Formats: sequence, C-alpha cells, structure tokens
Amino acid sequence: MFKKLEILDEKDKHLRKKSEDVIFPLSNDEKKLIQRMIDHLTYSQIEEYEKKYDLRPGMGLAFPQVGINKKVIVIVHEYEDGKFDNYVFINPKIVSYSEEMIAAEAGEGCLSVNREVEGHVPRYARVTVEGYDEDGNKIKVRAREDLAIAFQHEIDHLNGILFYDRINKNKPFFTENEIRLI
Ligand SMILES: [Zn+2]
Repeated sequence: MFKKLEILDEKDKHLRKKSEDVIFPLSNDEKKLIQRMIDHLTYSQIEEYEKKYDLRPGMGLAFPQVGINKKVIVIVHEYEDGKFDNYVFINPKIVSYSEEMIAAEAGEGCLSVNREVEGHVPRYARVTVEGYDEDGNKIKVRAREDLAIAFQHEIDHLNGILFYDRINKNKPFFTENEIRLI
C-alpha cells in the first residue's frame, strides 16, 4: 500500500542545516525511507496517482526534507513519456561541471516550498556527480539539462540551500543572451 510521504516545509529547521556523511551500512529504516521517496516521486509524476493520492509533482527529494540531516538524494527522472530512471546517491559530490550555464525557464519548484517563487536559478548545464549506492559501491553519473538541474537542486539541500537563495533579487530573470533557458 502506498503511503504518502510527510515532507517538511521550508520553515522547518532541518531544511537549513548542513547534512552529515552517511556511514555504511544503511539501516533498514533508511533503506525503507529511500524506497518510499522513490515511490512518492514516481507516483507524483503519473497523473492517475498524482490525483488519486493528491500529490504535488516532483522529481527529487533529499533526506533533510523528510527530517534527516544525512547526505542522501533521490531523483526520479522521466526520460521519456512514462519511463523513469531512479538515481539514489549517497554522499554525492559534484566533481566537474560545464562552463555553460542554464536555467529552467519556468523557474524551479521544490516539494518543501509551498508557494510560487518567481525567477531563474542559474545552474551548470552539465555536471558529473560521484557518490555511493545503497550498498556502499562507488557510482558516478554525467547529467545534463533538467537532470543536471535536479542534481544541483538536491545537493544544495544537503548544504541547507534552497533554490530561491540563488535567484538574484535585483534581477530575477535572465534573457536568452545571458543564459540558456530550458
Ligand atoms: Zn527541493
């Protein structure tokens, strides 16, 4: 049975704390929570379940958003209509990034931010992320475009940063000449 996750709001202090490294092995509770995050994110992106369970669509979550200040991020990426790839990264680190910057044209959203925040968030167009899987094996991914944005957004959560911290208050919107909007 699917049970909707309790996701903390931006006002909760967990969202502003720096997370600690995970020490392996993961506990059973941690593994179960990761699975629930995957289920929640997957269902939230499938219209039928989104409605049935009253979910806000989202592609990523980090442990601080469920009240644990440890370095775990989960991304469920719809790479093709109705097809999803799951990324579970533990102790993730961006090891290289492109010079090119992009921003989501419609702005970013966050399952912990329950209000509209307008503005473009500058992000690297491509990032290489290293980390560990749930069993402690080293893993690495090269992400681009919306997936690259998701990794940067989720890794920010591990440092207590929310997406709107990166919006320039004096000039919240970029033009196409300044940054590539996707
Ligand atoms: Zn978020």
